[in-house]
Amino acid sequence: MLVTKHTLAASSAHATPYYLVRGTKPGPVIMITSGVHGNETASMAAAQKLANDCMAGRRHVVRGLLIIIPRVNQKAHRNKNRGKPDLNRTFPRHISDKAKHPLASAVFRLARQYGPAWWLDLHEANGLSQRSSRVLGQTLITNPGSKAVPVCKRIIGRMNRSIPIRDRHFNLKQHELPGSARTAAARLLQSRSVTVETCWSLNRSDRIKYQTEIVHHFLREAGLF
Ligand SMILES: [Zn+2]
Repeated sequence: MLVTKHTLAASSAHATPYYLVRGTKPGPVIMITSGVHGNETASMAAAQKLANDCMAGRRHVVRGLLIIIPRVNQKAHRNKNRGKPDLNRTFPRHISDKAKHPLASAVFRLARQYGPAWWLDLHEANGLSQRSSRVLGQTLITNPGSKAVPVCKRIIGRMNRSIPIRDRHFNLKQHELPGSARTAAARLLQSRSVTVETCWSLNRSDRIKYQTEIVHHFLREAGLF
């Protein structure tokens, strides 16, 4: 396993680190982004922990390539807000379209370079989807009809069997969101793209744990672990 650290959008106000974790055997490319919204801190902590664990040799990617951008929107994170404009509405909508923000453009250029089979975009949201179908907390979201759906259903099953509090169970949503990283990845790169949403009114350590477990399930499903 070879882990290298790089800078995305270097020499700009949006400069942010990313990591390439290469297994020794060939395999799929998985991209993980978090902090597209700067105030969703548990997802950023989970992604940074995964990068740190790989750097320190505590986690091993056996095959394929894992790309991690733990804190996409550094400026929003420093300002402790979601970010203005909402970066997750600025990704390209069509093949001939350009990203409407230099940071989304840099993220998507990196994605185009590696053509990820999977893209996990880690977020946090209001509410518990188990209590109300109108909220996004504790959900996995794909584009409608995504090839990722069967894997998402398996992972939700495993997560929910391990979560004794029923209100915290995860649900699957299928939703097209033009301008989002998920929908751009699905439409333009044919990635199996999934948004992971924990509920940010739960305590932080539980949210980091859920995010970490979900990511590990995907990495195992894709054969990287
Ligand atoms: Zn978000």
